[in-house]
Amino acid sequence: MRLGNVFAIGLIAVTGMASPDMHGSAKKVGFQAPGFYRITVGEVEVTVLSDGTVPLPMDQLLTHTTPALVDHTLTASFIKEPYATSVNCFLLNFGSRLVLIDTGAGLTLGPTLNHLMANLRASGYEPDQIDDIFLTHMHIDHEGGLTSNGIRAFPNAVLHADGREADYWLNPENEKRALDSAARHPSDQQAKFVENNFVETRKAIQPYIDAAHFKWFHGGEELLPGLRAISAAGHTPGHTMFALESDGARILFWGDIVHVAEVQLTTPQATILFDSDPTQARAERFKMLKEVGSQRDLIAGSHLPFPGVGHIRLSQQDFTFLPLNFIGEPSNDK
Ligand SMILES: [Zn+2]
Repeated sequence: MRLGNVFAIGLIAVTGMASPDMHGSAKKVGFQAPGFYRITVGEVEVTVLSDGTVPLPMDQLLTHTTPALVDHTLTASFIKEPYATSVNCFLLNFGSRLVLIDTGAGLTLGPTLNHLMANLRASGYEPDQIDDIFLTHMHIDHEGGLTSNGIRAFPNAVLHADGREADYWLNPENEKRALDSAARHPSDQQAKFVENNFVETRKAIQPYIDAAHFKWFHGGEELLPGLRAISAAGHTPGHTMFALESDGARILFWGDIVHVAEVQLTTPQATILFDSDPTQARAERFKMLKEVGSQRDLIAGSHLPFPGVGHIRLSQQDFTFLPLNFIGEPSNDK
């Protein structure tokens, strides 16, 4: 008997034994695997925590490009609009301190986000264990998860943010100007976004100020042994990156240097409606892409596709994001 016949007979035997109602009865489950991803950087355990993804019409939001070019680039990358934008947060366990970089959107951007807490717990930690929270900047997709119903979601954490960022977003005169501007230009999407961001920032940060759990820092400062703040203003007035160095290893958490990798790595001049100063944001993106590409730095992005950790390959014409190879046992990655 040929081998093929053996398989054929086996198949008939198995299907003959099964009753018809054993087939096709499984319900579709529909939910995703827990959104966390763990690596080690020197002695520090780094866990990427997904807050989820939010669908955004990038052909309408990207500026200094055209909707047609954005659509063409995304189609060529096998990506459909609206673009599923990852919102990633980062948990750093130094052994002696547990640190969270950014807190996701909370409930400010719809039901597809606000998964940080579930993913934090799924990854093996509780919110009351977090000692420090560092914000890359005060946009709602990074700070919305700080509170829940006006209560601090991380009761033991001290919140840290860049002084220029706090000066800008927590200034009542700036908020009033933004509200006036939005009222004068009701169809201006940018004015609407800025107005909403002022209101939500106050709600997110004020409980930490009231509890004396808020501190500011300045770019260039070493925040903890091995963790440094690096100013990268443009996207917002105090937009900050964080560099972690431990035992000869390094990773750069670059915040919102890139929002849509498929578009902004091939056309880095493309900016986004959310940029406070698009010219400065673009210059910072060019600078950082060249720097991390030539230094072969490991980078982690708030909006690179989850988990958003990898390298930038520098070529003659443009840049490519290469996600880090998955390692099933990160503690063995020494
Ligand atoms: Zn963002």
